[in-house]
Amino acid sequence: MADVEFWSEDRAFGLQIPTERLSRVLELSRTAAPEETGGVLAGYYTDAHNCAVVTEASDAPPDSRSGRTFFVRGTTELQRWLNKLWRRERRFYLGDWHSHLGNEPSPSPTDLTQLKEIANDELCKCPEPVLLLVGGRAANARDVRAYVFPKNKGLIELYSAEL
Ligand SMILES: [Zn+2]
Repeated sequence: MADVEFWSEDRAFGLQIPTERLSRVLELSRTAAPEETGGVLAGYYTDAHNCAVVTEASDAPPDSRSGRTFFVRGTTELQRWLNKLWRRERRFYLGDWHSHLGNEPSPSPTDLTQLKEIANDELCKCPEPVLLLVGGRAANARDVRAYVFPKNKGLIELYSAEL
């Protein structure tokens, strides 16, 4: 199973996602069109702790709210899903993904606020949340970009050689 990798220019931060998970994210994005959709990314970090390895990408929790230009991820069932992943495979919350159909897959001011909140949330224990954004035309969404938001550094874009 091939993975798609994204790295920061200095290669200090990376994100890796299996092709089949990425395909599922693209499919969910297209299905939800013309509205945005999204979900949670779970997995683990490499031993060097410089790369978030995504193993799971969730659908939108049922209490999520969305429109053509916004997506607010809900939380229903999420903690239970994460608890189960932790118990079974030691996988945990890494960040979020959502679609920006018909738009640039770059973070909106709302997205940046949410990333900052997650990075600074002591309970969340996720000081370096990742964000995967899907853009492009609704029927053909495949412009994917990845970002990391280290608590002390702010937004960093990750680039992929494969896409
Ligand atoms: Zn957004």
